[in-house]
Amino acid sequence: MNTREMFAKAVDGGYAIPAFNFNNMEQLQAIIKACAETKSPVILQVSSGARKYANQTLLRYMAEGAVEYAKELGWEHPQICLHLDHGDTFELCKSCVDFGFSSVMIDGSSLPYEENIALTKKVVEYAHQFDVTVEAELGVLAGVEDDVVAEESHYTKPEEVIDFATRSGCDSLAISIGTSHGAYKFKPEQCTRDPQTGKLVPPPLAFDVLEEIEKKLPGFPIVLHGSSSVPQEYVDIINSHGGNLPDAVGIPEEQLRKAAKSAVCKINIDSDSRLAFTAAVRKVFVEKPGEFDPRKYCGPARDEMVRLYKHKIIEVLGSDGKAE
Ligand SMILES: [Zn+2]
Repeated sequence: MNTREMFAKAVDGGYAIPAFNFNNMEQLQAIIKACAETKSPVILQVSSGARKYANQTLLRYMAEGAVEYAKELGWEHPQICLHLDHGDTFELCKSCVDFGFSSVMIDGSSLPYEENIALTKKVVEYAHQFDVTVEAELGVLAGVEDDVVAEESHYTKPEEVIDFATRSGCDSLAISIGTSHGAYKFKPEQCTRDPQTGKLVPPPLAFDVLEEIEKKLPGFPIVLHGSSSVPQEYVDIINSHGGNLPDAVGIPEEQLRKAAKSAVCKINIDSDSRLAFTAAVRKVFVEKPGEFDPRKYCGPARDEMVRLYKHKIIEVLGSDGKAE
């Protein structure tokens, strides 16, 4: 399904739909299991990195298989959207629309304003013929996500959002209010340190900007990218089992919970799943050095990701029970 009805209900209901990236079978199984067990609608995201790693055709049929898998798990009416994450050209978005994706993102945020509108409008005009919804982006997020690299962030300007949404015709808008891609969302000098634990405390999200945007576009679906929280427990497991992730820091979950209750109706989480996977695998490698069957370390990694996704759905997004 596309995102239209999902978002309308999420905006009304004061929760957010999880948008989880997937690159492999274990991740997809974990996402579907967590969503089936919690009856949460879900957006499966395919990034350009995922397409390069796993092949677009394979990912598309895996998503189709995921719908059947969800039903097998006893989820009677699964609400699953297959979404292109960070499409950067009209041609790429068109190929995903033609290929059966139910939603695409066109990210023209690095372009000058008018060019961003023109590109987004072109994608919208094509996609809407096939009832495929389109996410656009205004404002720039810092950080690294696959091919998306930006040195510094620029908050979305609230005075531009009405013009942008109206003229581009986009169905949802990704904004920049201080989230960023990757597991190192902030440099240590941007943070303060908790005097007790010595851990980094990131600067708060710009809720004033979000509120301004909500006032300009009441009820319009807003999207947050780069919204992993970088759970310290995973960072600690990784670091104590041969890893090296110094000062990794994410967005505190309380802030995402607050955002989910507003017009923010899609929250993208990718890095946290990577951390859960890596922590579980590292643990097996250290504790059972004789193990060489990939199922014996990918299996525990999958279980850990199920726990993570369910936690996000229930404790952060509030989307549990919204897709019975
Ligand atoms: Zn993103």
